[in-house]
This record gives sequence, C-alpha cells and structure tokens, in this order.
Amino acid sequence: MSNVAKITFCGGTGSVTGANFLFEIEDKKILIDCGLTQGLDLADDTNWIPFPYNSAEIDILFITHAHIDHIGRIPKLIHEGFKGMIYSTKPTRALTGPMLLDTAGILSKNKQFSLDKIYTEENVNAAFLKWVSYEYHEKIEITPELTVSFKNAGHILGSAMIEFIYKGKKILFTGDLGNSPSPLLPDTEKITDVDYLIMESVYGDRNHESRDDRKILLERVIEENYKRKGTLIIPTFSLERSQELLFELNNLVENKHIPVMPIFFDSPLAIRLTEIFKQFRNYFNETAQKELSKDKYLFDFPGLHSTLQSEDSKMINDAPNPKIVIAGSGMSSGGRIVHHEKHFLPDTNNTILLTGYQALGTMGRLIQEGVKRVHIGGEDVDVRAHVVTILGYSGHKDSNGLFNFVEDMQDTVKKVFVVMGEPKSAMFLVQRLRDNLGIEAYAPLKGDSVLLYF
Ligand SMILES: [Zn+2]
Repeated sequence: MSNVAKITFCGGTGSVTGANFLFEIEDKKILIDCGLTQGLDLADDTNWIPFPYNSAEIDILFITHAHIDHIGRIPKLIHEGFKGMIYSTKPTRALTGPMLLDTAGILSKNKQFSLDKIYTEENVNAAFLKWVSYEYHEKIEITPELTVSFKNAGHILGSAMIEFIYKGKKILFTGDLGNSPSPLLPDTEKITDVDYLIMESVYGDRNHESRDDRKILLERVIEENYKRKGTLIIPTFSLERSQELLFELNNLVENKHIPVMPIFFDSPLAIRLTEIFKQFRNYFNETAQKELSKDKYLFDFPGLHSTLQSEDSKMINDAPNPKIVIAGSGMSSGGRIVHHEKHFLPDTNNTILLTGYQALGTMGRLIQEGVKRVHIGGEDVDVRAHVVTILGYSGHKDSNGLFNFVEDMQDTVKKVFVVMGEPKSAMFLVQRLRDNLGIEAYAPLKGDSVLLYF
C-alpha cells in the first residue's frame, strides 16, 4: 500500500469555493484546506452536511491561505472531533484570527443548523492551540519518506502552494494562484519537476485586461471625481485588495500624483487585517519593501482616516467633498458600503469604482451592468453616480497565467486535477492542457477519489 496514495475531492470541485481535499498517504490522513462553500450568501446550506470522513481521524490540516473559502469550516472540523495539528505559513495563521472571528460572528447567529454551537469562540480558539506556523521553504518531515514545504503562491499575504515530496516524487496543491506581478507581493514561485498537480481554475477560461495601466486608471478616476467635487466610493474586499489599494493611494498621494483629500477607510475587518500586514512587511516584494522603507508610517498617509467605530462611519456622509470612501463588502452584498451606496449613488457628481469580481446576482454586479435603480434596505435608490470598473487588480491568475504555470512542469507531470473553478472554467483549462501540452488533465467531481502511484 505504501506505493499508492489517494486523494479525495471533498469540496472545491464544480465551484470556486469550499476547498477541502483529503490526501491519504502511508498511514496518514491529511487535509488540504477546510473552506466554506459560498454563493450569493456567506455560506451555502451544503456546508452543514457531515464531512465525508471522520474528523477525529485526521492527522494534519494544511491551510493554503486565509480566505474564508479555504478556512471557514475549521470550527466545524473541531466541533466534529478533529484532534490533529494545523500547519500554515506565519502570516496565514495571523490573518486567520480576524477572518474567522468575523465570519463566526455572523454565522453563530444562525440556529437553524446549530451554527451557534459550531461557530463558538471556544472552537475558533481551539484551532490556534493546534496551529503551528512555518516560513516558506522550511522543510517539515511528516514521515521518513514524506516531507512538505510551503511555496509562495503570490495570491494574498502568506498564501502558499503545498509541496509534498514522497519517495522523490512531487505532489503539489496550488491553493489560489496570484495574478503576478502584484503591487505588494512577490510573484508566484516557479515550480518544476511536479508529478501530480492539484490546481485552481477560477479564471481557467478567461484572460484579464492588461495590468500595466491599472494605477494610471485609478489615478484618472480619482482626479475626475476630485474635479467634480464628488465622493468616490470603492467597495473592496477586506483581505489583500484593501491593503493593495491603500498602498497604491499612499504612493499616489506621497508622490503628489493626486491631491490630498479625505480618504475614509471604513471597514473594521480591513483595518484589523492591515495591522497584521504591518507586522509582515518582510513578506512584501522587493519594490514594495524599498518604497516602504522610505516611509515612516506603513499604510498611512496625509488625508487617511480609519473609521473603526460605527459613529465615525456615520460622520462620513457630512464630511466635505471631494473625498474617497473605501468599505466592504467587495460585491456590495453587505457591510458598511451598502449605507454609503444608499447615500452617494443618486448624485451625478459621485463615482463608484469596482475593482473586483462581481458575482451574478450581487448588488455590485447590478450596478456594474448599468442598472439605473437598485433596492437598498427597503428603499429604491437611483444610480446616477459614475460607474467605473478597473479589472487589473484581480488576485487570480488568468487562463494564460494558469497555462504557463503548468507549462513549467510539462516534462514531468503525470496527472493534473483541475479544481476550484466553475465547471465551464475548469473544463476549458482541462481541454487546453490536453490539447496544447498533451497532459492527462481532469476536472474531478465532488466525492471522486483518485489513486497516485509511486
Ligand atoms: Zn483566495
């Protein structure tokens, strides 16, 4: 049996979210990620059916990065008797705290699936007692024949690919792969000599717009809004996108590319996460580190106001224009941004800037598609503000980026399992890898198991 290992795709197939893979090798049961499946809601009901394995028998849970679709079901795993260890990079462990507490705060109000018993502070805290964190490339020995290390995925701070080496053969779980070059992070590491690859495919069937002009476009939107003396509102994801945006604004303000004006950073979660980014500046790319070494205050610059308390948030409405408001959620499906949209969307002098993917059915998508009236908190709100989208800040590799990533290992790779994408996207990438590289590629279904031979 020791020449055979098994992977079961327990989640993260047929959809972008819900990553959860069981890797059985020698006598070890290893999980890679334990994420929430998310649709239009924070969590689908499918999350609450029992795991297809005995949680008490799992030895180690590896976490690729701190997005909720990779960590969100850790409290459920603990609730179901998980006694093993959790391994990740150091920033991932640090970022998981506020991310999990934020989600637990919302889900624990739901008694329907006993979520109030699963998303307790005890279960969240229990995770950190079992959690050991490592640097990238640190070698971890699991058995004499099986070692593992974290490789930089360049997706968000601390994000990692997990590279197992067993009997000289390499098995790589990618987690999410970054859209390098990122303003803050190093590029995704080049990985070669892989034998078995389990990879994401969020943008398996699409390519991004050019990234070269994203900062110039941002500058232009801000300047036009400034000239109109309007309010620019930016719905933003709390983890990574918010900090990237602060970093870009910091640079634009301090180099006098845009005038100084009030910029309200109005997301308690993003403010907490930014504090963690400050502790891990040595994980930023060289350019960002160099730029920040000249800067006495990291992620702080003239005009910036971080509004943690809701009373401060309410005062933003009356602050004089022109101004900028950055708030969550990124798809306007909740959070403080919704209140700002209600207040600012009806005025033609204002602008709403969308920088992230807007899922079908979300408020963000409706606004992006040019709907003239939206329904917010029981009221009809006219959308007269300028609507602008800049897509260059996407956090995921596009179809060409994913293809090039596999190309680097085409001489050795025996099988590629394409996961974490919508079916159309995953299948497109599978076909592209088969047709152009002659690689055995598959898009497994939820519950499928495959055997790997060594
Ligand atoms: Zn992610």
